[in-house]
Amino acid sequence: MMFEPGGALPWHLDLLTNLRRADQGRMGHALLLVAPPGHGIERLVAVWVSRMLCQMPAEEACGQCKSCRLLMAGTHSDVMELYPEEGSRQIRVEQIRALVDFASKTPQFGGKRIAVIQPAEAMNIHAANALLKTLEEPGENTLLLLLSQRPADLLPTLRSRCQLWALPPADPIKTLAWLTPWAPNEQVARQALGMARHAPLIARMLLDEGKVRQREVLWSGLRELIAGQSDAVAMTKSCKDLWNSEWLPDMLAQWVEDWVHVKAGCHANLHHPDLLSDYQHILNQGLTGSALVDLWQQLIHVREELSGNVQPALMFETIFLNFSRLTSRGVLS
Ligand SMILES: [Zn+2]
Repeated sequence: MMFEPGGALPWHLDLLTNLRRADQGRMGHALLLVAPPGHGIERLVAVWVSRMLCQMPAEEACGQCKSCRLLMAGTHSDVMELYPEEGSRQIRVEQIRALVDFASKTPQFGGKRIAVIQPAEAMNIHAANALLKTLEEPGENTLLLLLSQRPADLLPTLRSRCQLWALPPADPIKTLAWLTPWAPNEQVARQALGMARHAPLIARMLLDEGKVRQREVLWSGLRELIAGQSDAVAMTKSCKDLWNSEWLPDMLAQWVEDWVHVKAGCHANLHHPDLLSDYQHILNQGLTGSALVDLWQQLIHVREELSGNVQPALMFETIFLNFSRLTSRGVLS
């Protein structure tokens, strides 16, 4: 976690205020902090924890005192962070045992001892079970913070021992105002947010990586393919650089999702509202809902397969062939 001086992000402020208020009163000693991906919950926690441990706190942590300096150096003796270790996707029981030991000791700075587990769903079953007792009775002045994007994947016994705090999805107006300075203009910022499924930090990353421009190129290729002006082999070759990125199938799936919505007459919450007239032109050529659902399922499958041992060229050729068949040959319709 990056313990740097600085403020929370605009969509964090309400939850941060509530956490600070609760901290003055009767807050639980084990919190489950849930947030959608790309909303920067780590930063919120870093801002909150820094302020809590700061020896000269003002509105935010001072960034100068001994506690702040140790936090920024990652060597604060009252803070422990648990992640999956390098090369592993799991948080193991040995790591939890170290945490149990940490939680049983008294704070060295006279404040709180804080342990952060991130992501909580990375704990394997042994690790989760080893944590249960400490969740119920941690040491005095110990606060356990479990961060999660998928709380449903946690053991129910673990969830029930934590106080739940959820970060609501970011407010679209605040997010757009925050993102626009990083985009050429507001329209492009809006496009990036749609592509990022409204996750602000992912939108920022897409802008930095030039993905909004790439979307234009991919969309124009796809439009030509559907209109019968190019074929699946050419289309597959043209996105060779993207075969190994999850972005390509995700992008294609977003377009199919948008078509399904437009076909059902639902124009709100499209990923790419700026493409609506293009969508209507394509849908007027007689795509059936079931063909779109089939295609969407194939794309979800691609995303899974990409992490395994598959030949991306063959897979995308098949996908693009099915796109080309949506209208011109009518095989799926
Ligand atoms: Zn400080």
